[in-house]
Amino acid sequence: MEKVVALTKRRGFIYPSSEIYGGLSGFYDFGPYGVALKRAIRDLWWRHMVDLRDDVVGLESTLIMPSEVWAASGHLTNFVDPLRQCLGECKKRWRADHVTGDRCPECGGPLDEARMFNLMFKTHVGPIEDTASEVYLRPETAQGMFVDFKNVLNSSRVRVPFGIAQQGKAFRNEITPGNFVFRVREFELMEMEFFVKPDSDDEWFNYWRKERMRWYTEVLGIKPDRLRMYDHPKASLSHYSKQTTDIEYEFPFGWGELEGVADRTDFDLRVHQEKSKVDLSYLDPETNERYLPWVIEPAVSLERIFITLLLDAYDEDIVNNEPRVVLRLHPNVAPVQVAVVPLSKKPELIGPAQEVMKSLRGEFRVEYDQTGGNIGRRYRRQDEIGTPFCVTIDFETLTDQAVTIRQRDSTEQERIEIKQLARRLGELVS
Ligand code: ATP
Repeated sequence: MEKVVALTKRRGFIYPSSEIYGGLSGFYDFGPYGVALKRAIRDLWWRHMVDLRDDVVGLESTLIMPSEVWAASGHLTNFVDPLRQCLGECKKRWRADHVTGDRCPECGGPLDEARMFNLMFKTHVGPIEDTASEVYLRPETAQGMFVDFKNVLNSSRVRVPFGIAQQGKAFRNEITPGNFVFRVREFELMEMEFFVKPDSDDEWFNYWRKERMRWYTEVLGIKPDRLRMYDHPKASLSHYSKQTTDIEYEFPFGWGELEGVADRTDFDLRVHQEKSKVDLSYLDPETNERYLPWVIEPAVSLERIFITLLLDAYDEDIVNNEPRVVLRLHPNVAPVQVAVVPLSKKPELIGPAQEVMKSLRGEFRVEYDQTGGNIGRRYRRQDEIGTPFCVTIDFETLTDQAVTIRQRDSTEQERIEIKQLARRLGELVS
């Protein structure tokens, strides 16, 4: 983990938020390569959850929602974690379910009794700070899908079973943020509420568990032996859930939740129907049955996928008798898919190299590197940020109109005509 954290800072993936002022615990900024990786993950999720399907539509609801929503959903009373504070020297606060015994893991001092702490950030709308103006930053995007359920139903052609997907910021005032971006206070959720006929929930729950696992291994290229499914026992289920499976990854600190797949029953639609007095039922156009659909929800944050991908891809090996650090990221997600590197800074190479770069830029995430210096060093720099392919322009290019593709993982090189380059790279990337 330490090596990955150092790499992310050194190479501009992630920085602590507001670092020049000492940072803010649990908040991070994403730098140039971090943004590229994040966008790639976000786009792949949308592509596979929405664009490639005919039964899921998208939504963007607001980050701030009125307190009525959170009262109805149960978050005001139930979205709490047990908090214990050290009464000894360090006064640190801990999540009670993350410590064992009555002693502080930091300084050994006694811990006070657990009390419940609500994780939602509260603020006010308008100039007057009274209870009537209280609103909350959403701790999940899901409530937007339930509150807008009727709008989507009435304005699009969806028929149960169907899903509403959303990507966007969520905020949780975590008691103990940590393990880098595994647990942060501001993060980007990717959630999909899949509405199904009551009694078909088990079938869809199983479908989505498998489908999401497939996405991680086949689309993101995560090592299958570092993933597993963990079924929550009844006692640890959230207040809305009938059954929940976590897709877990084997992190350096142990197995941890990457994504949760939950059977939310009709809990959310039912409570919003009760509180808002708006009929949220669905009329089946074929059978004329009226019912509240049940909901299966796969939910994951970009930050969890981000750290999982980096940890999964990090490797060290020996190339040409020298140690190298390499991120073996799947070409689908690599922040730079193709680096174009002229062998030297001589003007006769720069022109053709820039031509090649421009011809590839529309199709791939391309970086152009003419910093000069040893070509091996430039390859290493690309290896470290996970670039799967380097295209090298050398003096022979001027006569044979061909370039070399160098592969990150095998370090193998192949010579190819510039005319064939985009097609060949397309093959390699997919
Ligand atoms: P925990 O009990 O670990 O606090 P949870 O079970 O309440 O978490 P969920 O509500 O299931 O978490 O969250 C859904 C998904 O959102 C998680 O699988 C994870 O990918 C992501 N997530 C939740 N909390 C955070 C956080 N603080 N930082 C980053 N990602 C988070």
